[in-house]
Amino acid sequence: MSSENRPSIRRSFALRLTLWYASIFAISSGLAFLLFYVLIANVIRDRIDRDLLEQVGKFSTLLATDGINAVTRVAVVEAQAAGEKKIFFRLLSRYGSVFFSSNMQYWKDIGVNRDALQTLLERRRPVFDTITLAERKPRVRILYSVIGSGVVLQLGQSMEHYTRFMEAFQNIFVLTMASLIVLAALVGWFMARRALGGVLEVTRTARRISEGALAERVPVNPGGDEIDELAITFNEMLDRIETLIKGTREMGDNMAHDLKSPLTRMRGIAEITITTDSSLAEYRNMAAETIEACDRLLDMINTMLVISKTEAGVGDLMLQELDLARVAEEACDLFQPMAEDKGVALGCHARDCPFKGDIRLIQRMISNLVDNALKHTPRGGTIWISVAPEGPGGVRITVKDTGVGIAEKDLARIFERFYRADPSRSESGAGLGLSLARAVARAHGGDIHVESAPGKGSTFTVALPMGAHL
Ligand code: ADP
Repeated sequence: MSSENRPSIRRSFALRLTLWYASIFAISSGLAFLLFYVLIANVIRDRIDRDLLEQVGKFSTLLATDGINAVTRVAVVEAQAAGEKKIFFRLLSRYGSVFFSSNMQYWKDIGVNRDALQTLLERRRPVFDTITLAERKPRVRILYSVIGSGVVLQLGQSMEHYTRFMEAFQNIFVLTMASLIVLAALVGWFMARRALGGVLEVTRTARRISEGALAERVPVNPGGDEIDELAITFNEMLDRIETLIKGTREMGDNMAHDLKSPLTRMRGIAEITITTDSSLAEYRNMAAETIEACDRLLDMINTMLVISKTEAGVGDLMLQELDLARVAEEACDLFQPMAEDKGVALGCHARDCPFKGDIRLIQRMISNLVDNALKHTPRGGTIWISVAPEGPGGVRITVKDTGVGIAEKDLARIFERFYRADPSRSESGAGLGLSLARAVARAHGGDIHVESAPGKGSTFTVALPMGAHL
């Protein structure tokens, strides 16, 4: 990835995670603080209201027992005792006219709230009012209550404690929130970087690989978390790609090798034709050899095309009902003369197995397996073909020989295109027969397996579903 394509700091996932984390943290802490603030404010206000109601209770009892003069006397004393800047008393008629008050020097801006008075008289329950004075910070909580017939008490108390507490609370809130947001952002950034560290490592490795270091792998921690899973899967994918690249390279080498021989041969023949005077019979021979070499090449190219087409899938198959037993017996008959020439016993045991498939491809698959067995079984050996139903709805075709067998190291690779085990290089063949056999088996929904012991022989088994896949 070029540096321009890399995510900028603004678009980086880690940054977005951090912002999300910090925002969610800030919003939830803010809400918690707000709730706390409202609760505390209510508690303090309730406390003030309770104090005011207590006073009202006291004054109505006093009025009932000792009369209005006692009320005014006590009001003056109470205001002085509590502080004349903290509390005031006013006695009003039901129409709002003031007939007594404690020292109102400090409270002169506070009048009588007619609406509150009206509500009080209508509801016959104490009415609370809160006033904000222009030149003073603390608000004033006022209670209107009837304390006797025709006597209304207007009682006011400064909300100084309340205001001070709320101010302190607000300052703490701002400070705490600011530090919490910074802390949340730092923690969020740290966590996001840690969580995404593994992803960055994968990205870095992918970049180094794209620059050519194919052997690079992502380091895996023993922790086994999701990122390690990603690293393991990524490494497995790289292993697979490396194997595929190696296989393709080897296939290319093998193919070049197989193409080289007939082409060199044809060139040699052409050169002799130009440089020497030969008889017509010799020219004919040379032409025949050229045709043979060309046929080999064409055969190889055609087989490759058939493999590719077959691997492409069921759509390209020409399906028909066929009896696998008959196909196997026909193959046996076909190869019988060759086997006799070579001094190899060839036998077949096939049970009726109706099957839906592409007869040309199935014939080629069986022929390739029998042909291979003949090529690799020395004189005196035996080849046995069998076809039998297997399990519910399956069929098994087996070609077993007592030939040279296949070395362990070749077993896994003989189905690759152009792969030929070393001892077979002297034999005819392009290393495509088993690739075609596997492509045919898979195109019919089955597969092919081999078991072999060097020096003892090999058994190729094709397992097919009896048309259930089609
Ligand atoms: P080819 O026969 O053209 O070489 P195949 O794809 O048919 O190519 O086979 C690949 C390789 O597998 C052969 O080169 C041979 O080494 C090995 N092989 C296949 N069948 C047998 C067998 N029956 N016995 C021993 N080796 C075998």
